Amino acid sequence: MPESWVVVGLDNGGNKNNATVLDSDGSFLVDRMLETPSRVQEGPAVALEALSESYAAVLTRTGIAAERVKVIGLDTPGPASADGVISSRGSTNFSHPGWRGYDFRAGLEARLGVPVVYNNDGNAAALYAHHVCFGADSARRSSISAIVGTGLGGGVIESGHIVKGAAGMAGELGHVHIPMEGLLDAGQPVPLCNCGFAGDAESVASLTGIEKNLLPYWLSRHPEHELAQAGSPAEAAKRVRSYGVKGDPLARRIFEQQAMALGRLFTIAANFTDPHAYFVGGGVVEAAPEFRDWFLAKIEEHTRLREEQARAARFELVPDLDMAGARGAALAAFEYLRVP
Ligand SMILES: [Zn+2]
Repeated sequence: MPESWVVVGLDNGGNKNNATVLDSDGSFLVDRMLETPSRVQEGPAVALEALSESYAAVLTRTGIAAERVKVIGLDTPGPASADGVISSRGSTNFSHPGWRGYDFRAGLEARLGVPVVYNNDGNAAALYAHHVCFGADSARRSSISAIVGTGLGGGVIESGHIVKGAAGMAGELGHVHIPMEGLLDAGQPVPLCNCGFAGDAESVASLTGIEKNLLPYWLSRHPEHELAQAGSPAEAAKRVRSYGVKGDPLARRIFEQQAMALGRLFTIAANFTDPHAYFVGGGVVEAAPEFRDWFLAKIEEHTRLREEQARAARFELVPDLDMAGARGAALAAFEYLRVP
């Protein structure tokens, strides 16, 4: 009797790859991170070799024969097209010139000889959060996930499917404009985003937003604050969270502005796709419980829902964020087998 099939999820990050296996019953066979160096800075050829090592390692770990793998799910940071062609303009993660316009999905498929399904990392994590939350009801539910990191990523899930868009750029939540009135302090400059927009969600709700916009303003108002002596702006921005956890008023003002930005973003989502669930992920919600709960409550407070919506909606964390990329990539591969 032939053994049942599996799908593999490969999560390609700036520094590390992670891998998982999902069996035909929908169970993950790996319960922890399986990290190996991603070597993306060395260009596509080296990175493909690193991914194939990650693939071999997860098969060895789970004792799965390669013949049983039907599809591989791959996720990477963006910007890339819906089917995994890296932006011709390059990006932070894919700065090696070989990546420009490179078809990562097709490259991996050719290297491993197994069909590969591509998603960006925000969409993969959003799909995972959706499945954990809704389980067997996934196909009848919708959700939005906002993941606060260096930028603001995430995804939109409709009836269990990732909304990808015509050019693969749906769910770029960070670059949605949000109202700044009442969010900014009197005299605070309108924050700028790396994408060129002023006043979008990422310009506030991201580590980059803290470094470039929020912290410089608040330190100009409170030059006596310890963070003014923290060295580089990047270093100071990274330390804001630990101050927030301790209840430092300046840090709490910064995170309150981030929570307001996320609430306003979710308010737009409420009037756009009216999702069943709003997920938040990122380092800020993996901090101490008191701080996390305060932050989530602030987001909910600033998400303006109608009464009927509030009854139907859930606010939750993106679970297992470090494994969400690989697991979401595997779920997308699983789904592809059912609806190619
Ligand atoms: Zn932007």
